[in-house]
Amino acid sequence: MASEDLLRRHQVGGGRRAAAGAAGLAAVPSLHTAVVTCMDARIDVLTLFGANVGEAHVLRNAGGVVTDDVVRSIVISQRKLATRDVLLVQHSKCGLTTFTDAEFCEELAADTGIEPSWRPQAFPDPAESVRRGIARLRRDPFLHPDTRVRGFVLDIETFALDEVFVDGERAG
Ligand SMILES: [Zn+2]
Repeated sequence: MASEDLLRRHQVGGGRRAAAGAAGLAAVPSLHTAVVTCMDARIDVLTLFGANVGEAHVLRNAGGVVTDDVVRSIVISQRKLATRDVLLVQHSKCGLTTFTDAEFCEELAADTGIEPSWRPQAFPDPAESVRRGIARLRRDPFLHPDTRVRGFVLDIETFALDEVFVDGERAG
């Protein structure tokens, strides 16, 4: 199993390095920011933002979609760990743009005989998905009223960030 390789690397120094990197840090992210992004293995959020361990919460899933569970984590992040800002980052050429919810559910059903109770939440256009995510977060009743949400599409080749604005808005 390839995962055994990761466990071995933890044993031979990864764990010690992680402990040293977190030494003396508080659980509260010092930049009071939560970043939501895709699980894409090429994206290193700390490197992307020149950030350090301890500075931000990083919430990841397939696509970087604002799901119920992302909202759950942000609400806890805000109420218990003093974050306010949310950066939502989806990216070009995301796997979630390569199929539809119906296709994926049909594939699962054909293979297993069972349709999932959840939606894959695939999207054809990352910018539109970011726009919907921003809208959802801004309307969520449990997020702090001072929450600042900004959304971006990351170019997966250049790693440039293109800010996405909700209709009629040009944030500073
Ligand atoms: Zn992705």
